[in-house]
Amino acid sequence: TNRVFSGAQPSGNMHLGNYLGAFRNWVRLQDSYECIYCVVDMHAITVWQDPAALKDQVREAAAAYLASGVDPKKSILFNQSRVPGHAELAWIFNCVARIGWLNRMTQFKDKAGKNRENASTGLFVYPNLMAADILLYKATHVPVGEDQKQHLELTRDIAQKFNNDYGIELFPLTEPIIQAEGARIMSLRDGTKKMSKSDPSEFSRINLNDDADTLAQKIRKAKTDAELLPPKADMLEGRPEAQNLVGIYAALTDMSRDAVCAQYEGKGFGDFKKALTEVVVTNLAPITEEMARLQKDPAYIDSLLKEGGEKAQALSAPILADVKKAVGFLS
Ligand code: ATP
Ligand code: MG
Repeated sequence: TNRVFSGAQPSGNMHLGNYLGAFRNWVRLQDSYECIYCVVDMHAITVWQDPAALKDQVREAAAAYLASGVDPKKSILFNQSRVPGHAELAWIFNCVARIGWLNRMTQFKDKAGKNRENASTGLFVYPNLMAADILLYKATHVPVGEDQKQHLELTRDIAQKFNNDYGIELFPLTEPIIQAEGARIMSLRDGTKKMSKSDPSEFSRINLNDDADTLAQKIRKAKTDAELLPPKADMLEGRPEAQNLVGIYAALTDMSRDAVCAQYEGKGFGDFKKALTEVVVTNLAPITEEMARLQKDPAYIDSLLKEGGEKAQALSAPILADVKKAVGFLS
């Protein structure tokens, strides 16, 4: 069977990049794959999370998946820490992956920043846990944003080395599914940085729970340049902020970037931002409303996550048992 695993970290507010780069595609995959969608709370604590806030963030993430169209009847939806196999397999992968491999991970460098000595060791071995998330279910496909491509390559390296070292074809070489439009949504403040939950500036991102006024204000304040929109998208080269806004418009309307440029050719960003605001508000309003509705009933969300966790546990148990046997652990 073709099985998909994907997840997002409950490390803050879910944003437009998560929606266009992940959630929206997850929904589309539900009809052709067996899908497992996880709120990866163990990844979130690689940087400090306030415990009380973390609980709400896990529920917000689950609400965002559901509001985007993830259907718990079709897909498994749960939070990672419920299934202990993630941590167990991650430990084994800590012993498979090489320090040199992890040293090449650009996300660690970005997230650890200048004070690398003070980053948690969890942040450094985060890609090993991600490999465990995927391979604990022998997922064959992972839909990822551009930012996670390197981690997925590491997952394949780990699978291959494990299979080689233990002389058993246990793990598949998982394939990425990367969507063209929306694969990489950039910060509204800096077109060269990706939009992130962990960016300290609220004005850098469009949150899925922003109201219409906040959305309008953020888009109005988004960094742009004084030039006009060109007739073709490749003429936006060297204008990362302009490229990003055109890209967001294209992704939300399912238009090509060229078609968006053609429609607004010769207009300035003042006009374009007004049109973009309308597109963003129209597309996000139903999601924002549904998230708010779901979050009013945390007990319901918790019960869904518990049920999903039981299914994930059942699916992973025989795979983890095979892994332990291959490694030589007594049972
Ligand atoms: P953090 O800053 O805590 O890492 P994040 O915003 O990067 O948070 P993740 O939870 O790491 O979000 O990623 C969840 C999913 O969203 C992943 O599939 C990732 O590829 C996708 N994603 C995250 N940011 C973007 C973005 N700016 N554009 C497109 N996809 C994105
Ligand atoms: Mg991230």
